[in-house]
Amino acid sequence: MSETKIQINLRAVRTRAGLSLSQAAELTGVSKAMLGQIERGESSPTIATLWKLAKGFHLPLTAFLGVEAGSPMPAAVRFPGSITVHTVFPFDPLFGSETFLVTLEPGQEHVSQAHDAGVVEDVVVTMGAVEMMRDGEWVTCALNDGLRFAADQEHGYRNLSDGPAQFLNVLHYPRLP
Ligand code: MN
Repeated sequence: MSETKIQINLRAVRTRAGLSLSQAAELTGVSKAMLGQIERGESSPTIATLWKLAKGFHLPLTAFLGVEAGSPMPAAVRFPGSITVHTVFPFDPLFGSETFLVTLEPGQEHVSQAHDAGVVEDVVVTMGAVEMMRDGEWVTCALNDGLRFAADQEHGYRNLSDGPAQFLNVLHYPRLP
C-alpha cells in the first residue's frame, strides 16, 4: 500500500490523447505546473485531482492507475488524509464499469465533485455503516445495503462510527466507448 507517494500514469494518458500540458490544464482545471509535478512524480495527486483528470479526459479513474482489464490486481491507494481505494475490477469497455473497494477510517468524510456526465455509482456497504450524500442529503447505508445514484452531481461518503467502514463502489460510464 502506497501511503505517501502516489504515482499515476498521467504522462502516458496525456500523450496518448495527443495533448500538451497547457491543453490538459485547460481540459481538467488542474494547473499546468501541478500537472507537470504529477507527471514527474514530484507531487502526489489527491483523490479530488484524480477525479478532475478523469472528468477532463473523459476517462475512467483506473485509466490513471495503470490498470486495465486482465492486468494483475494493483495495490490499494491510500490518499493521505483521505479514503483508501482498492481496485477490484479495472474499467472494462465491454461493460462500461469499474469497481473499487473503498475504506473510510472512523470519522472520515469525503465529498466528491460531480463526475463526468451520465456517470452512475452503486455503493454496497461491506463493513460497518456508511452515510451517503446524494441530492444534497445524507442517508444512512447499513451493512449490506445498496444505493444507486447519479454521480454527475456533488455526492459524498462518510463514516460516523468509531470503527472502519468499507463499501464496494461500482462506477458506470454509459457514455464511454
Ligand atoms: Mn464518486
